[in-house]
Amino acid sequence: MITPRILAIDQGTTSTRAVMFDESGKALATSQIPLRQIYPADGWVEHNAEDIWEATLSVCRAVIEQSGGIEGVAAIGITNQRETTVVWNRRTGRPVTNAIVWQDRRGAALCAALRDAGHEGAIQNKTGLLIDSYFSATKLQWVLDNVPDARAAAVKGELAFGTIDTFLLWRLTGGRVHATDATNAARTMLYDIHDGQWDDELLALFSIPKTVLPDVRDTAGDFGTSDPALFGRAIPITALVGDQHGALVGQACFTPGMIKSTYGTGCFVLVNTGAKALPSRNRLLTTIAYRLKGETTYALEGSIFNAGTVIQWLRDSAGMIANATESEKFAAGLDQTGGTGRVYFVPAFTGLGAPHWDPAARGAIMGLTRDSGIAHIVRAGLESVCYQTHDLLTALRQDGIAAPPALRVDGGMIANNWLLQFLADITGIPVERPIYAETTVLGAAFLAGLGRGLFSSLEEIKAAWRLDFRAEPKMPDAQRSALLDGWQDAVKRVMR
Ligand code: ADP
Repeated sequence: MITPRILAIDQGTTSTRAVMFDESGKALATSQIPLRQIYPADGWVEHNAEDIWEATLSVCRAVIEQSGGIEGVAAIGITNQRETTVVWNRRTGRPVTNAIVWQDRRGAALCAALRDAGHEGAIQNKTGLLIDSYFSATKLQWVLDNVPDARAAAVKGELAFGTIDTFLLWRLTGGRVHATDATNAARTMLYDIHDGQWDDELLALFSIPKTVLPDVRDTAGDFGTSDPALFGRAIPITALVGDQHGALVGQACFTPGMIKSTYGTGCFVLVNTGAKALPSRNRLLTTIAYRLKGETTYALEGSIFNAGTVIQWLRDSAGMIANATESEKFAAGLDQTGGTGRVYFVPAFTGLGAPHWDPAARGAIMGLTRDSGIAHIVRAGLESVCYQTHDLLTALRQDGIAAPPALRVDGGMIANNWLLQFLADITGIPVERPIYAETTVLGAAFLAGLGRGLFSSLEEIKAAWRLDFRAEPKMPDAQRSALLDGWQDAVKRVMR
């Protein structure tokens, strides 16, 4: 008997990956292809959607082959970089221009004008988002206004818009299904997260004809089947989910109040808020965690711009460490009490985010004494990631989120045990690292399994989550508050 397997596609900003999982959530095969970044102008970032499609086919075929063939592949799930915008011709399937990536700032002036015109409150109320060019709305508007003939073709119903999940679904189904899921729709700035509809007023505000929009479905469910010509057999596609939301599921954060925190280049914190969409008074984002069987679960999201970038800076710009792993040795080698002086590193390379919100702030290293050395600066860099998490949790608390029983972490930085211990110490919350740290793609697989009926409920997914390492807070309160005071003082000094 062939046991069912689940093919999960993780289309990220810097690479396209596929992982084949068995029913228990064990990864059987992985394949990954880096993605070319295109920078046509200052602040512009694009991807070639055809590159993304070719890479997706290659990585899927590789893991199907490596894990024993197409027989037994029961479902496909897709998780993706969010907000990135593709517009294509419905007849030819060809994109009308490059995909505009979430980081792309070309919509910034348009967003500033909307803020000046006083639309922020209404947009936040409907979409849970703050007006920003990060989201899809101004990217889509830009394509319709700047690609020759695009708007006329869109009005005639000839063009389709989608985030990457939708584009891949279209291609996988041979152009038969034009759909997205609620988590991806929630990042477009065109979708009312409360009533679960594309919003007519927002569509008018951004001059988007309804004809281009995909159907919005549950996160796990029926998205059609793959074209049999692609992999030799038609496979049901049963989940689409934005990457951070995938990680929340992969971390089995299903109970209100549970938090996952992803430490990659930046850091993304999502807290499950259950059936309630909590508005933020601290400029955090209200979003959809997932929608299952028509029921929406919401989340609050906060991000830290600079997490892994601190390590990259220490390695590539300052030359203080040879590789990321070395940061742990430097930090662990120092006396934990910190002595009399303490070095602080405020990595405001691109300004400060929640809860300080100062785009003009720039980074600083402070508190140096004659005996400070590279180790102190490296340790301060790692610590900064933890202090920033503390600040974000404080903002969440002000929005009504109680301290969680544990912080479930993932992303490249969590290989660093010293970092996880300091994170537990400074937040006062136990930190948990799962055995399988690729929680985003695991979440997509779990959801696809749920959509295909391989799992009957989230409870089964919860049981499949396995702990690898748990750091308990150990630092005495007095030391913790002294360190936090020093950090707050350092942050004040870099604010403009
Ligand atoms: P992304 O998905 O954003 O590209 P990843 O989740 O792959 O990022 O994480 C990569 C980041 O993790 C890099 O910035 C890297 O410097 C950092 N990193 C990797 N290993 C360690 C380590 N042992 N200690 C601290 N940081 C690390």
